[in-house]
This record gives sequence, C-alpha cells and structure tokens, in this order.
Amino acid sequence: MAELWSTAGRMRCGDSDEGGVGHAGRMQRTQRRSATPGGISSVFAAIAQTAMATIDLVVPLRCAGCAVGGTRWCDRCARALLDDPVRLAPRVELPVGAWAMGPYGGPRRSALLELKEHGRTDLTPMFGTLLARGLVALWRWCELPDTTTLVLVPAPTRSVAARRRGGDPVTAIARSAAAQLGSSVRVAALLRTSMWARDSAGLSAHDRVLNLAGAVSVRRGVSDLPVGPDCAVVLIDDVLTTGATAAESIATLRSVGVRVDAVVVLAGA
Ligand SMILES: [Zn+2]
Repeated sequence: MAELWSTAGRMRCGDSDEGGVGHAGRMQRTQRRSATPGGISSVFAAIAQTAMATIDLVVPLRCAGCAVGGTRWCDRCARALLDDPVRLAPRVELPVGAWAMGPYGGPRRSALLELKEHGRTDLTPMFGTLLARGLVALWRWCELPDTTTLVLVPAPTRSVAARRRGGDPVTAIARSAAAQLGSSVRVAALLRTSMWARDSAGLSAHDRVLNLAGAVSVRRGVSDLPVGPDCAVVLIDDVLTTGATAAESIATLRSVGVRVDAVVVLAGA
C-alpha cells in the first residue's frame, strides 16, 4: 500500500471562503449607511437584503462543529479532530479490534449530525481525510495486515434511512478515504440491512443484538468478494455504540468467506 503515503497527512477542511462573508458584511454596512425612507436607496437596500438571504440559503456559513459564523468548517474544529485512532472496548464483544478516530462528542458529534441529519455533504471529504489518516496510522502500527489491497466495507444503513438522508454517508466517506489513499484501497458496499430492522437508536445493547440478528445480509448480485491473502478488509461505520451492528456485519461477512481484519469508526460513543 505504498500509495498510502503519497497523501498521508493531507487535510481538507471544507470551504472556508471568508471572502463571501466579508462581501455580505460589506453589503450590510453599505445598506446601513445609505438606506433612507423611500427613493432609490430603499430599492438598493431591498436588493441587498435579498442577496444576503440568498447567500445564506445557498451557502450555510456556519461551522458544522461549533456554529461559529463565516466558515463551513473552522480551523479550531479541524485541529480538534486530528487525533490518533483509539482502541474501543464495545459492550458487544467483537472478534477483531475496533478503533475510533475519537470520542462521539464536541465538534466531531456536531459535524456527524450535520452530515447525517442535515445533508451537509460538503463535510464528506473532511471525514474521508480523517478516516484515511486513521487507516494509515493503524497500518503503521501493524494493526492492519500488510496486503496489496485494502477493502473498506461500509456498515449497512437501512435503505429507507439512507434515502431520507440523500444517500449513505458512511459509503460516501469510505469512498472519499479510498480516493485519497490510492488505487490499492477500494470500497465494497457489500452489506444491507433488512427493512424490518428497527432504527437502533435508543435500544439497549441486548435489544440491538436481537434487533439485528439475521437482519444484515450480503447484497444480491455481489460477485467480487474480497477474499484471499492479498486482501485486508476493514468494516467502516460512523459511530460505534454497542458494537451490535459491527458484530452482525462481521458474522454475515464471515458466512460468505470474507474475513474482517478490523473495525474503524469515525466516533466511539
Ligand atoms: Zn468550528
């Protein structure tokens, strides 16, 4: 995986186009100076206000991590997320190591919620970079086997949930990470969750296991399974809570001959 090194450490923090804000700010100041009751200046003021509202609608200029204005992703939040992976000890026992890029809190949690619940897909490359960095670190630490191919398998998302959110963000993040790491890393979206599985939010570890028992399956029509000594397989998810989804996913993959080498998530709850 020599290509891993070519982009290691690169950080894309989203668009921090402060020029747009400055422009809007200047428009506001101009409006305050020139607005008088009636006449041509009030027409300009109305145009300026409309333009500002349009800018706010098109470009949400609030940091997804801390809500500071003027940027979609601020430097402080970007720095806060630059951690080494940490080993997790999930309540549901896993047969392989599980690693998180950090705890599920602060700007990491806010940004994940913005991406998943509010469609902030502009955050996908940033999370892709974090995931790529984590995979490189784990490879350096010999926590991943030294194979010619690394396959990232996104944990399954209920299809209805994915559609509602405008696509599966975990798969998109995995694809972004793979694109940054080079051609020896690929994404195989092998898993799906049955429609009858409930959203596991709010369920206990025990109930999550019951909810998912038999609910994760390999997608029909998959012919190119990552098997063999030249393939390392990493299960990817956004948040690991109890480990129930990871455990069921690993068992499902094992049933079709795919051995998972590690679980890597963006945040450990
Ligand atoms: Zn921020």
